[in-house]
Amino acid sequence: MEKIILDGKVVAQKIKENLAEKIVSLKENGIVPCLATVLVGNNSSSKTYVRMKGNACEKIGMKSIRIHLPEETKTTDLIQTINELNNDPAVHGILLQHPVPSHIDERLAFEAIDVKKDVDGVTSAGYGQTALGFGKYPSCTPAAIIKILKFYQIPIEGKHAVVIGRSPILGKPVSALLLNENATITTCHSKTLNLPSILKQADIVVAAVGKPKFILGDWLKKGAIILDAGYNEGNIGDIDYDSCYEVASAITPVPGGVGPVTIATLLQHTVESAEKHNR
Ligand code: NAP
Repeated sequence: MEKIILDGKVVAQKIKENLAEKIVSLKENGIVPCLATVLVGNNSSSKTYVRMKGNACEKIGMKSIRIHLPEETKTTDLIQTINELNNDPAVHGILLQHPVPSHIDERLAFEAIDVKKDVDGVTSAGYGQTALGFGKYPSCTPAAIIKILKFYQIPIEGKHAVVIGRSPILGKPVSALLLNENATITTCHSKTLNLPSILKQADIVVAAVGKPKFILGDWLKKGAIILDAGYNEGNIGDIDYDSCYEVASAITPVPGGVGPVTIATLLQHTVESAEKHNR
């Protein structure tokens, strides 16, 4: 069986090449696409993620504003910071890094983001638009998963896609995007019974569980297409790569799979937001 390694670095590079020209043309009109990242607290993974996102912006000629608020920040103070970014015409995208410390009402903070600058699809309006099929900026990881499938010309229509995870930024929106692409969807979660027997029916598997090496090759149908969104400590995905590799016809590695495309998608959404600002 032919096996395809779904190389996220290649997909990300292609996206960034397409963006480079757009960034030059925006700059000629005096606009530098700008992403503001907001990090609250000292979660070391979150620190790494926002650093990667900021660096990716700068590398491609965009601007990044990096706001780091202390652990004890109150919800109201975070919302005030977000409002300042909403009102700053030089900012085109706002990314509040998830998760925020538990004393903060994360949903309220996400909802404070102006939907026009919600480049990671975290507001309920952004999510709703995505689900209805006209979303400008779906959450970046779900959008990245669709981009990978399309880049490798993997048919989605009519396929049975099983998504493991139903979080608002990953499992739910990726289910919605796959549905919009005419897949038949099963969304699984912690209360799902007989997960392995459901996975046995899957043509496309999206792992979004947050548990290292959780999905085993034995559970999968031969020839399944596997997209591992998981990113656990030690660069380990949510699938057991070695056993899943044996049965898969296409598979994303971790690292170098969904992650780089997520970042490239974030840049793309921010550039598109800047282009709207320019019009
Ligand atoms: P999350 O909010 O913790 O959600 C995890 C989901 O998995 C929940 O819906 C949960 O079900 C479900 N789940 C937990 N245990 C399960 C089990 N035993 N069987 C079936 N489902 C189970 O996590 P997330 O934010 O969606 O992130 C998921 C993973 O993706 C993490 O590894 C994260 O690091 C990664 N991630 C990667 C990127 C990227 O760019 N590559 C971006 C975002 C996240 P319940 O709803 O019932 O609790």
